[in-house]
Formats: sequence, structure tokens, C-alpha cells
Amino acid sequence: MSWSVKVDQDACLGSGICAGSRPDIFGFHGTHAVAVTERIDPDEDLLDLADTCPAAAILIRDGSGAELAPRP
Ligand code: SF4
Repeated sequence: MSWSVKVDQDACLGSGICAGSRPDIFGFHGTHAVAVTERIDPDEDLLDLADTCPAAAILIRDGSGAELAPRP
């Protein structure tokens, strides 16, 4: 079941880490990152990337809507 990915526009600091690491999933709109695709195949590497976001702004949910990232 696919996951959903979004960037919290209010939280994003525009560091560029996400878009630099995964341009297949993240891009930039002005000074903030955006997800260029909303549905992705399950991807553990993306959870690790979300952990590196300095603003915990990468929001990932599984197919049932359960929050996978940001992790506590
Ligand atoms: S890593 Fe986080 S703070 Fe940096 S651009 Fe991506 S979402 Fe924004």
C-alpha cells in the first residue's frame, strides 16, 4: 500500500536537505520545499531522510493514515 508524503509549509526552514537528497520526491517552491509527488511506494530511506530534516517538516503516512514521520 502506498504512502503519502507532504511538507509542512509552516515548519519548513528551506534548508534544502530533502530536495538535495531526493529530487525525485522533493522540489522547491519559493523558499520552501514541496513534495513533487504525494503518493510513494514504501521507502524506509525516506523515513531516515525525514529524521534529518531540521524542522521535522517532512510528513509521511502509511496507507492506513498512520503517521510514520516525523518520528518522536
Ligand atoms: S529538509 Fe526539512 S527544513 Fe529542509 S527544505 Fe526539506 S522540509 Fe524544509
